[in-house]
Amino acid sequence: MRRQIVAANWKMNGSLELVQQLVPAVRDGVAELDNGPEVVIMPPSLFLGEVKARLASSSITVGVQNVAQWQGGAYTGEIAAAMAADAGCQYVLVGHSERRELFGETDEMVAVKVSRVLESGLQAMVWVGETLEERESGDAEAVVCRQLEGALAGVSAGDAVDVVVAYEPVWAIGTGKTATAEDAQAMHQAIRQKLVELGLPGNAMPVLYGGSVKPDNAAALFAKPDIDGGLIGGASLKAEDFIAICQAVVS
Ligand code: PEP
Repeated sequence: MRRQIVAANWKMNGSLELVQQLVPAVRDGVAELDNGPEVVIMPPSLFLGEVKARLASSSITVGVQNVAQWQGGAYTGEIAAAMAADAGCQYVLVGHSERRELFGETDEMVAVKVSRVLESGLQAMVWVGETLEERESGDAEAVVCRQLEGALAGVSAGDAVDVVVAYEPVWAIGTGKTATAEDAQAMHQAIRQKLVELGLPGNAMPVLYGGSVKPDNAAALFAKPDIDGGLIGGASLKAEDFIAICQAVVS
């Protein structure tokens, strides 16, 4: 069976006060799940230590939302993958649509970042997804396949054990709209096929769905055979909602 993962992307949200309230509640809620998914919290990097301190002996792991394509040096404001590893992270989210759209990240930059993440011994959670325009013009699958090919250019079959794909239609992120479970399943199947074409073990790699996942739509999405969990933005900032989404993987 493939790994099932629910990852929280806090984006640039939160405060120390939120960390103090949210993390213990999520930790305790997740501890009560029988046979629950692997849970990852990706807070703003400045809060990593505070988040980790509150996770104590929990199985929940932490990650960062981005790293630089460089290994270190004079890059003011940037964080290297090796630093994320040093700080106790297990995951790095790479190439989120907000990074691509607002910070000009290209498939080539994403590929370099994926290599940095893997050489630092971390797991890369690689974002792919299409815009509304691309979906409406019938290009969604081609766009996602091109992103996969670009982002995973430096990944070998042996590295793939440390790669998770996160599919999020851009038009579903933070909008309250979500893909139907059937459309999401179809894309996840296409993603696996493409991974196999790229020489990677696509049928063994976790492929997560994201984009306005909430307690009321999570179960239908996670019931699909090629959806191995979710990447959760807004709903990850509310303990009750996030725990309900984790629970939906189990049920
Ligand atoms: C995200 O941007 O990674 C995300 C899934 O956001 P939301 O759940 O808020 O749509």
